This record gives sequence, structure tokens and C-alpha cells, in this order.
Amino acid sequence: MRKYPHFRDCKCKHHEVQGEFLGRLSKDNEWWVNSPKYSNCFWVYFRHNNRSHTLSEIAKLLRLSISAITTIEQNALKKIKKRLLVLGVKK
Ligand SMILES: [Zn+2]
Repeated sequence: MRKYPHFRDCKCKHHEVQGEFLGRLSKDNEWWVNSPKYSNCFWVYFRHNNRSHTLSEIAKLLRLSISAITTIEQNALKKIKKRLLVLGVKK
């Protein structure tokens, strides 16, 4: 299995502890995802994996329930609709 490395300049910016580069994220890090192949970093995963994902795959990656993901999606859509109304883009 090919592994994608976690570089020092990764967008997560949270893989250093007291100036020491660890190359991996701890499970309590906000960018940690359940994918060792991608060094458990959301940004490494996002960069190298551009296929569409199922709801259950996303839930597994983020260690959330499917209903939690659905709720996040619904709230995001509400925010987008509200902002489109404010901008007068959509009526
Ligand atoms: Zn990272």
C-alpha cells in the first residue's frame, strides 16, 4: 500500500510539538482523519484523493455518525441560502 507523506509545510500546521516535527497528527488533532495511508491528515487526504465519497465513508473518516454529517450539511445549506438572500442572488 502506497503511503502519502506528511510534509512539514502541510496546511494543518499542527504536526509540530514544541518545535519538533513529528510527521503525524495525534488523534485529538482537529485535522486527524481515520486514514493511515494519508498520514491521518485531512489535508494530505484531500490533496491526493479527489474521488467522490459516500456519506458512510465521510462519517468513518471523521469519526462521526451519518446523522451528524447530515446535520452539518443541512446547517451549511441554510447558511448558504441565507447569505444568497442577503446578497440578493436568490429570491
Ligand atoms: Zn497535515
